[in-house]
Amino acid sequence: MIDRFNIAADILNLDESIRQKLQRPEKQIVVNFSITLDNGTEQNFEGYRVIHNTALGPSKGGIRYDTAVNLDEVKALAAWMTWKSAVTGIPFGGAKGGIICDPKTLSKTELERITRAYTKALSDIFGPEKDVPAPDMGTGPDEMGWLMDEFSLVHGKTIHAVVTGKHLHSGGSLGRVEATGRGVSIITLLALEKLKLRPARSTAAIQGFGNVGLHSALFLYEKGVKIVAVSDVSEAFYNPDGINIPELILYYNLNNKTIKGYPNSVAIKHEDLLLLDVDVLIPAAKEDVITQKNAKDIRAKIIIEAANGPVSSDADKILHENNVLVVPDILANAGGVTVSYFEWLQNSLLESWRIHQINKRLEDILEKGFETVFRVAVKHDVTPRIAAYIIALKKVAETQSVKEVAL
Ligand code: GLU
Repeated sequence: MIDRFNIAADILNLDESIRQKLQRPEKQIVVNFSITLDNGTEQNFEGYRVIHNTALGPSKGGIRYDTAVNLDEVKALAAWMTWKSAVTGIPFGGAKGGIICDPKTLSKTELERITRAYTKALSDIFGPEKDVPAPDMGTGPDEMGWLMDEFSLVHGKTIHAVVTGKHLHSGGSLGRVEATGRGVSIITLLALEKLKLRPARSTAAIQGFGNVGLHSALFLYEKGVKIVAVSDVSEAFYNPDGINIPELILYYNLNNKTIKGYPNSVAIKHEDLLLLDVDVLIPAAKEDVITQKNAKDIRAKIIIEAANGPVSSDADKILHENNVLVVPDILANAGGVTVSYFEWLQNSLLESWRIHQINKRLEDILEKGFETVFRVAVKHDVTPRIAAYIIALKKVAETQSVKEVAL
């Protein structure tokens, strides 16, 4: 990420002091707490919250529950949130949090105790005008509801706007669950149009079938894109005739949220999904899945970064040389934080918006973001990723008003 940051910062002629300021988080907090497991034993957990930057507004970003969570990863993800909000024009800064745990092996009540203990430990940090968490890998509306409730208990009043991605009955927004996937599909259609490819004649492979991968697949399927390959941690499979996504979702929901064993397709190796000859490749799982090692073998025309950081910076150059159009994460997956912003607004204004209003506003924001990124890319003769960084860095740097820079 530093490479991309520096390329954009050089183009903007940012001076060293502002670079240093924008590369380091404003605040990083490590919390340790213990909870009683269902079997009666005590277990200690470590959690993090990193506030990268608050120049553009309260910091915003998800909380990840995963065994691989670590402070460095949370720091990188927090910075991405700053650039993501800035590039889409949302009035938030960037933050991220995480707890080292395996949510798959914990019961619902254990997860609730962990979430409440983490929230209590960070109750001075969170706040509707300070730092507003949201879901990320391994968390969802349940965790956000517990967080809201615990925060409200500590502060002695109901405070809906402290967190987004809640259930509707806890003050959540229509369209938030599917927002990231909807955003990915909007951006994918714009990218196809850029290359003059028609959705109904295009193919896509999607890595990851969590909330983001599943909804991206569904919305693109509905637009006529042929989804020829999907994967989750358990299995990857391929069907050149196209996978019936609504049927697969039904199978997934009936099979304990896994696609393992789905018929009507051929199992392939996970790493081979990335190398398929498709129009669009959508990595919707984790960081660094396309690196220097496999970038040269990518055959897709377009990569839409639905996950945060799926293409490592050493792969950027290779993909660019091979004419692969990469739409960067900070634009491609910004649908989630955009509808989070709508949720926060609805909570603050005591309003509830209709779904068509939400989807229309989401589309407008992402379309504008996409157009701006491509305009700046042409102007500076850089990749869309560097263009997105230029836009975001310029906004944040100017707001910090350390140095005026000319775009
Ligand atoms: N975790 C999501 C992301 O990485 C959503 C963040 C939010 O809604 O604040 O963009």
